[in-house]
Amino acid sequence: MSSSIYSTRRWRKLRAAKLALQPLCEPCSRRGKLVPAYSVDHIKAIAAGGDPYPALDGLMSMCVSCHSIKTNARDNPHAFGKGWKAAFKGCDLDGRPLDPDHPFLASSEG
Ligand SMILES: [Zn+2]
Repeated sequence: MSSSIYSTRRWRKLRAAKLALQPLCEPCSRRGKLVPAYSVDHIKAIAAGGDPYPALDGLMSMCVSCHSIKTNARDNPHAFGKGWKAAFKGCDLDGRPLDPDHPFLASSEG
């Protein structure tokens, strides 16, 4: 049960630290929209072998809309590649793909 980490004090502290550092939705910010974040998401899903308590740069602040797009995509494999990919299509100002699961980002780690 990976979801159990969200009820731990350690997660709540980590989440609060992330929101203090990055109070705006990161995907929206990269597209030039300043939207307050309400949720903190793992860039590498725990289910995919990600650290439940990663460093802050392993987390992403997200607004309601971005988070629900990603959650829906994850919960519905048939929608994956539509909502999530469409919402995060393109590149940010640094020329990096907006999609955090993009192979470009994965390969840049090593
Ligand atoms: Zn957003």
